[in-house]
Amino acid sequence: MVKATHPTAEKIAVAFDFDDTLVPSTYDTFIEYLGMDATEFRQQVYDPLKADGWDPISARFYSFINYSKSRSNSSEKITRETIREFGQSLQPFAGVTDMFHRLQETATAIVPQVEVEFYLITSGFVEMARSCKIADCFKAMWGPEFHYSESGEIEFLKRSLDHPAKPRYLYYISKGVRDDDSRDDILFVYEDVPPAELAIPLPQVIYVGDGDSDIPCFAMLNREGGTAIGVYPEGSAQQWADHYQPSQGERVSNLALADYSAGSELMKSLTLAVEGICKKIQLQQLSTAK
Ligand SMILES: [Mg+2]
Repeated sequence: MVKATHPTAEKIAVAFDFDDTLVPSTYDTFIEYLGMDATEFRQQVYDPLKADGWDPISARFYSFINYSKSRSNSSEKITRETIREFGQSLQPFAGVTDMFHRLQETATAIVPQVEVEFYLITSGFVEMARSCKIADCFKAMWGPEFHYSESGEIEFLKRSLDHPAKPRYLYYISKGVRDDDSRDDILFVYEDVPPAELAIPLPQVIYVGDGDSDIPCFAMLNREGGTAIGVYPEGSAQQWADHYQPSQGERVSNLALADYSAGSELMKSLTLAVEGICKKIQLQQLSTAK
């Protein structure tokens, strides 16, 4: 028996950003859900915090915490329940709900035993994502969370996850995500793991995200031989063109509209990426079967 030159595993990981990648911005839609104008709220509350040097995640969480605190009517306070109900009301972009099984079918058609695992890594509000209709499709979801008071009202930012920290989770996926997901597992992802022991080698990891905030993940996967796919929500192509001028290492394999319907450019890119990885797995299987 000849040992394969490169280790391989019969798994593919597809990791997604959330806001503006799978759903519209949860910050803006939540402001509107609370009955306010998103642009006005940003101008009056969020922008001054940013101008004062606040970190964007802290500013977003604080703006809602402060809003809730200022409500004298208890029915207007933002609670765990408000977040959950809002999450349930979130409408993913076209085709998202069918995309998960479509990609699994694409993979199975080439390598029957291959498993496609889906992950979510957000710098937005992960608890909203955990309540949304596609939550069950993900093996794990990571992102900033609220701390709640005894009465269930949002009170503090409990856990943060900024964009430069996202690649750490891609390493974690590659090492193998444990069911009892602990902080330590994520902190020590840089520990050396022999390539043959990796749960999912990084060339079998795909990351889908929008905008320049996802550049750390794009750059990391490009370095490691993975696949980076950039999306833009409807109407924001020009924004991408204006802001996104990455260096060679930060480029994406393709940039497409956030439309996951069958036959869309984005679904074609994702399908090609999954097929490409499956064919490499197939090739490895041929060489190890000798
Ligand atoms: Mg995003």
